[in-house]
Amino acid sequence: MARPPLFQRATVTRIVKETDDARTYVLVPEDGPFTYQAGQFCTFKVDVDGTSLYRSYSMSSAPETDTEMMTTIKRVPGGKVSNWLHDNLAEGDQVEITRPAGTFLLRQGEGPVIGFAGGSGITPLLSIAKSTLATTDRDVRLLIADRDRNAAIFDAVTDELVEKYAGRLTVVRHFDDDLGLLTPAGALEFIGADTASDAYLCGPEAFMDMIESALTGPGTVYSERFGAAAEPVKAADAETPAAAADIGAPAAAAPIEGTVSIRLGGQRVSVPLNPGETLLESARRAGLAPPFSCEAGNCATCIAKITDGSATMRVNDALSDDEIADGYTLTCQAVPDCSIKVRYE
Ligand SMILES: Cc1cc2nc3c(=O)[nH]c(=O)nc-3n(C[C@H](O)[C@H](O)[C@H](O)COP(=O)(O)OP(=O)(O)OC[C@H]3O[C@@H](n4cnc5c(N)ncnc54)[C@H](O)[C@@H]3O)c2cc1C
Repeated sequence: MARPPLFQRATVTRIVKETDDARTYVLVPEDGPFTYQAGQFCTFKVDVDGTSLYRSYSMSSAPETDTEMMTTIKRVPGGKVSNWLHDNLAEGDQVEITRPAGTFLLRQGEGPVIGFAGGSGITPLLSIAKSTLATTDRDVRLLIADRDRNAAIFDAVTDELVEKYAGRLTVVRHFDDDLGLLTPAGALEFIGADTASDAYLCGPEAFMDMIESALTGPGTVYSERFGAAAEPVKAADAETPAAAADIGAPAAAAPIEGTVSIRLGGQRVSVPLNPGETLLESARRAGLAPPFSCEAGNCATCIAKITDGSATMRVNDALSDDEIADGYTLTCQAVPDCSIKVRYE
C-alpha cells in the first residue's frame, strides 16, 4: 500500500498566546484534515539558517472535541526550532508537517485516568484528557506542575473542562515557586488509593524519572518523552543473548555479514553491514544526510521502506503493524538482520 508523502503543507490559520513562552498553532493541512488520535504528534520540518531541522509537537486538541487541529509549542531557552517558530511563524503562513504519529494513547482500563504533566508536557495530556472525558465514562485526574502560575499553560481551558465535566475531572496545579519541585511523596499522595489505575506522564526528563520510580503499580505507567533519546542499549552491553533479545537487539552471539544499500532521493549508496549499527547510522556512515528527529523511535521522521531483507527495531512507538507489514521501518531504531535494501520516500 502506498504511503502518502512524509511531509505535507499546512496553513497556520490561528495563533493563540497561552503564556509568555507558549503558543498554540491551529493547523489546516492543504490536502484535507488529518485523521489522528488524542496524544499523537506531528513532526515539523523547519529551515533555520539554511539547515533543515525536524522537531515533533503533540496535538493539544482532541479529534472528538475540537473542530480545529492544534499543537502547542513552548520556547526552550537556546532552542533552535521552538524559538524560530515563535519568532517567525504568523497566521496565514505555511509549515511542513508529517501526518500524526505516536503511540502515547489512551489504553483501555479500569478506574480513573491519572495524568502527570510538567511544563509543555501538558500538551498531549490535555488531548488525552479531553478525549477520555468525551468518549468514555472514566474520571480523569491531572497533576500539572509548572515553575509558577505565569508559566501554567491552559489554565483557563482546564478550568472550563472542570466545570463542563463536573465531578469527573480533577486538576491539581503544582507551582514550584510555592512548594518546591514535586517529590515522590507528592506524587504518591496524588495517586492516593488509585494505585491500580494507569498513569500517563509527560514532562521534563527528571520529573518523569522521579514519577516513574515513585509509582510502583500495580497500574501501568505510560510515558511520552520530549527530550533526547536515551543512549540505545547495544547488544554487546547485554549480559546474555537472551537479554539482548529482550531489548530487541540482535544477539551478540550471531555476527552477520552483508551490505546495506540505501536510496535517498537521487542518491544510491552501499556500505558493508556493521553488526549492531542502525540503518540511520549506516546512512550517515555512507555520507548521506537523511531526515531524523527524536532518534528514540517516537517521531517517524526517519521512516524508510525496506525493499529487500529485514531489520529489527529496538523501539517502535510510531509505526502501526500494517505499516511494518508494508515494509516501513524507523531507521533510527532498525538494525539489519541480514543484507538489506532501503529506500527513503
Ligand atoms: C514525541 C514528541 C512530542 C513533543 N511535543 C512537544 C509539544 O507538544 N510541545 C513542545 O513545546 N515541545 C514538544 N516536544 C519537544 C520538541 O520536539 C523540541 O525538542 C523542543 O521544542 C526543543 O527544540 P528546539 O529546536 O527549540 O531546541 P534545540 O535546539 O533542540 O535545543 C534543546 C536544548 O538543548 C540545548 N542546546 C542546544 N544546542 C546546544 C549546544 N550546542 N550546547 C549546549 N546546549 C545546547 C538548548 O539550550 C536547549 O535547552 C516534543 C518532542 C517529542 C519527541
